[in-house]
Amino acid sequence: MRISKFGAQPRVKTRPDNCETHGPFDRKLIEAFDGDNRVLGCPNCHWEALNTAAVDSEAHKQAADLKRWRSLNARLFATGIALRFRPCSLDNYLTRLPGQAQALAVCQAYVDQFEECLDAGRCLLMLGNFGNGKTHLGCAILKSVVTRYGATALYAPAPDIIAALKASFAKGSEDTEQSILADLSAVDLLLIDELGAQGGTEFERHSLHTIIDTRYRNMLPTIITSNLPSSELSDYIGDRALDRLRQNGGEAIAFTWESHRGGEA
Ligand SMILES: [Zn+2]
Repeated sequence: MRISKFGAQPRVKTRPDNCETHGPFDRKLIEAFDGDNRVLGCPNCHWEALNTAAVDSEAHKQAADLKRWRSLNARLFATGIALRFRPCSLDNYLTRLPGQAQALAVCQAYVDQFEECLDAGRCLLMLGNFGNGKTHLGCAILKSVVTRYGATALYAPAPDIIAALKASFAKGSEDTEQSILADLSAVDLLLIDELGAQGGTEFERHSLHTIIDTRYRNMLPTIITSNLPSSELSDYIGDRALDRLRQNGGEAIAFTWESHRGGEA
């Protein structure tokens, strides 16, 4: 599986071990996206359990389960969701205020109808105050579509995108502007977090507009979070990009209630 510039891979710790049947091998401890790390034993035993053991045997079931887990774990890491947001799910988003329940309902519907959203390239905007769980909900949607639909997804904070693009201009950089834009255009669902959090130079506005526009032309959905209200967002990325984000039923959720960050238990 190809890992994008913004994605990650699980850490793997190895130590030498010995299989009674197959001899020496490297025992591996694989970092789990949800924190529940797993150990990989002898790779030859795993292969045999998967390919030559009876399909209804316990060994085969365990090996098949481990294979599925590794694949899903790798795809969740590839989203690049930062450690802090990995536990975020739709189920653990707190809804104390009516606006929060409404925001959650829109996000749940987006996941439930994701095949349709993907077909239509339907976007989602989460706008409003800092500390209201926009990133929580965005990451929860990414995890859900990867787990439930096998989709590819990527979490990319706008300041990180800009920093990566600027770094690509440096002499000797492995990345190019094109390779970074290609990474951001390759996934089924892209979450651009914190749009508008940085200064808003012409270069920044143009870059973000290009990403949104490229995904629009390829009919791929994008989720945007921003602390800018809708009116200022159009100044930031341009009316046309905002219009594209709202096409085909793209909803905008306004996070207008007071931030509860800091007072949160
Ligand atoms: Zn073995």
